[in-house]
Amino acid sequence: MTSAASPGTITLYKNHVLFLSQSFFIKDNRGELLLHAHKYDFDIAFFSELSAFASAVEAAGENDLFVIDLDALHNMQSDMQSSRKTLMLGELLARLPGGHSYVYLQSARQGGRFLLQQRLVDSDCLAYAEKPIANDVLVDKLFNLFVQKKRGDLMRLIYLGDAGHIDAAALLEQRVEVICYSDVQTLHLRVKDQQPDMVLIADDEYERTEAIVRVLKKNIEADPVREIMMLQRRVDVELTRRALASGFDGIMPLITRELLTAHLVNRANKIRVSKDLIGKDRATGLLNKVGLQRKTQDLICDAARDNRPLALGVVDIDKFKTINDTWGHYFGDIVIKRLSLTLASHVGERDLLSRFGGEEFVIVFWDCALEEGWRRLDAIRQAFGAIAFEVTPGTVRQFSFSGGLAAYPEYKTGNEMFLRADAMLYEAKQGGRNQIRMGK
Ligand code: GH3
Ligand code: MG
Ligand code: MG
Repeated sequence: MTSAASPGTITLYKNHVLFLSQSFFIKDNRGELLLHAHKYDFDIAFFSELSAFASAVEAAGENDLFVIDLDALHNMQSDMQSSRKTLMLGELLARLPGGHSYVYLQSARQGGRFLLQQRLVDSDCLAYAEKPIANDVLVDKLFNLFVQKKRGDLMRLIYLGDAGHIDAAALLEQRVEVICYSDVQTLHLRVKDQQPDMVLIADDEYERTEAIVRVLKKNIEADPVREIMMLQRRVDVELTRRALASGFDGIMPLITRELLTAHLVNRANKIRVSKDLIGKDRATGLLNKVGLQRKTQDLICDAARDNRPLALGVVDIDKFKTINDTWGHYFGDIVIKRLSLTLASHVGERDLLSRFGGEEFVIVFWDCALEEGWRRLDAIRQAFGAIAFEVTPGTVRQFSFSGGLAAYPEYKTGNEMFLRADAMLYEAKQGGRNQIRMGK
């Protein structure tokens, strides 16, 4: 009944949903719901019995989501054998394993009753949704929850002002890295260099050099997701008015260091989610084109500063149209997914990996010169080529990809590296496919 992978087997999907639902509102549609889910890199296991669901929740991983269709209540018998009544909400909530939070699906009628609503949101509720809800919408919303749940990337904050106001250690614990800075005249250079997610400027620094916000904001290259905020140590209505008018995204009051930390962490979490939604491919969780461009820029800055080489590879599955045409689009998606997992298992922490388009991927190896990049990409090519795909029961096929490579500092920008690598990919295709070509 369940489709979650058991330990030891290859887990094709990164995330898992356990779904308790009996009078299933999309009963005839489970297949469609699963198809949508797979596009967003998660799998769904369906349960109709509360006890089986509860044990699965106990055994689940910490990133799994648990969804309960409250209509399931109508068809579940109470445990109390004497009274053959329908399971009541209170009993359901009491029997759910503690220490977990749940997504509740309710009818609009249930949602209209505030007391019921309040009871739900106060009962280990991660989120609730109202039915009817379309499969693709539900999947999209669940995906957002996965993004919010996971331990996200480190966020970077540049702070201009008295370092005593900031608790850098507490922030780092919450995955916000603080860079304290003291020179307003060169802050814009520091921001360009470090590409922070947030900039916090103390009100006295702002008062001395009000143009600083405009200089930061009006740079066309400035990251639109970045937040520039003023730290307000004392209320000054005129100054605050000017600050907001000249481009600050918000004002943060300095009440205590602890409250400032809480405030900054909340902002950072919001920015992290936006960045993930904008910069990542949903089906694979890898960077998309937008995310790759941003990260490559940052990586080139780091490479220039530390004097390290980079190798950028472009990868494209061979004869993929034939794969789609012969075994169907759904099977094609599985091949893409397996390639993304193969690539992911071969990259290091500082390398970048992106799904650039349909069956095309880009990989950037940190501290890696051209020849070494070739060896690494060729090893991935061999690993992928060795995977046996069961195209129909009992019939196994192998597939291949071609790749092109170029390196920094031979090519100076992300775009130049990409164009050169793409030209090399073309040569690999012309040369018979299933090979990697590199270009000096
Ligand atoms: P070549 O060896 O020259 O690369 O041949 P090819 O058939 O792979 O040619 P190309 O790379 O141009 O084909 C890409 C095909 O991939 C076209 C498109 O229909 C299909 N495709 C793009 N995105 C997806 C996707 O997300 N899923 C599936 N199943 N197919 C996709
Ligand atoms: Mg292609
Ligand atoms: Mg192709």
